[in-house]
Amino acid sequence: MDDNDFRAWAHRAADWSADYLETVAERPVRAQTQPGDVLKQLPPHPPHDAEPMEAIFADLDRIILPGMTHWQHPRFFAYFPANSSPPSVVAEYVTAAMAAQCMLWQTSPAATELETRVLDWLRQMIGLGDGFAGVIQDSASGATLAALLTARERALGFEGNAQGLAAHAPVRVYASPQAHSSINKAVRIAGIGDANLVNVPMRGPHGSMDVEALERAIMEDRAAGFIPAAIVACLGSTSIGACDDIEAVFEVARRHGLYLHVDAAWAGSAMICPEFRDLMRGAEHADSFVFNPHKWLFTNFDCTAHFVKDPKALTDTLGLRPAYLRTLGRDGLVDYNEWSVPLGRRFRALKLWFVIRSYGVETLRTMIRRHVAWSQELAAQIDAHPDFELVSQPVLSLFTFRYAPAGARDIDALNARLLERINNDGRIYLTQTQHEGRFVIRFQVGQTSTSREDVQMAWSVIHELARGLE
Ligand SMILES: *Cc1c(COP(=O)(O)O)cnc(C)c1O
Repeated sequence: MDDNDFRAWAHRAADWSADYLETVAERPVRAQTQPGDVLKQLPPHPPHDAEPMEAIFADLDRIILPGMTHWQHPRFFAYFPANSSPPSVVAEYVTAAMAAQCMLWQTSPAATELETRVLDWLRQMIGLGDGFAGVIQDSASGATLAALLTARERALGFEGNAQGLAAHAPVRVYASPQAHSSINKAVRIAGIGDANLVNVPMRGPHGSMDVEALERAIMEDRAAGFIPAAIVACLGSTSIGACDDIEAVFEVARRHGLYLHVDAAWAGSAMICPEFRDLMRGAEHADSFVFNPHKWLFTNFDCTAHFVKDPKALTDTLGLRPAYLRTLGRDGLVDYNEWSVPLGRRFRALKLWFVIRSYGVETLRTMIRRHVAWSQELAAQIDAHPDFELVSQPVLSLFTFRYAPAGARDIDALNARLLERINNDGRIYLTQTQHEGRFVIRFQVGQTSTSREDVQMAWSVIHELARGLE
């Protein structure tokens, strides 16, 4: 592809993208393909000779598009949002064109300094208090891993990295059963082990970690020779949006000298609205706080905001400075690779900068407020219907419900069939979770192009498809 071809195809890609977003609402939300449908259309061997771009683009439409689940569809109500927006897409394009590695200050000073600045904007936007420094991580999972590695090292006097873990008693991490699987994964990768992730009981099924049980567990562990290191508090669990009382959890962390990490991966974006900040009361005391602008802040994946109180503890844990990575003659510069697991880093701050500037904070707030209001309106309608029950109350824009008509017997199976029917229908997309041993359907609103009508249409689809079920 020469420079002229590149210009033409780049324009074509821009048109393709605009057409796609304009018409995505006409497609089924969840891919309606069977396993292997796409694979069997792909040649088993790579092409020996160049193929024309025209043919590649044609196959994009013919083979790939039908096999996509459309995350930017206005009636995507499944999982959590991974929303995007036109300014974010434009910035991603520019980022791809520059294709810079942003691992050291020197490898792109603007990338480092913009990251420092926009992360501080984000910190102010969510009202986190000024004792934190921010870094962009690839995912909340990556941020939580970095946090638990730091907590582990802090608990071991920064000797774990040098000596390995065998030289020490087991390190313990505490979280509620609502904690995300990324905490389990981090505990594994950090060499802490599943057995040392302590499950702290909750106060009530929708509530928060029982802090008295938490404190007892820490004291018993210490007496038994373990090394209690960290507590992970959740702000908006994936299953039902459960929130720990961060203030109360912090009191325990403080009394016992534990590291406190707050996982607000989804709910954190909503903290830009001051009226929702009750949920994060106490977060300013945390050692680290993570949320994903790539979920609910209109910014393409990947973009995780990771705030830390003590960046030195993080860089003492993850920073390595081999001779070939020195910025000669300049000490005291921020080299963000020392803040995360991978060395190489994309220029991810640019899309945040585009998004925040092109909407402005007040419009971003309005978009999130609407999602919450439309979701809560639907929850009230479902609650009022005799054949449906609201299982968990809305936390921001997330709630769970089930179809439970009078006289129905196996309600779990009935709801599994309803969900299957809904997703095969294609007008909306919902997913399930298990709550107190029951199969329940989750509903969340968070797409950039979703309107109140889309949410109301979801209710008529659910209704219509439930009625035909036996
Ligand atoms: C989505 C989510 C995660 C994982 O986020 P990634 O960025 O995909 O790693 C972790 N915790 C919670 C509460 C989440 O909602």
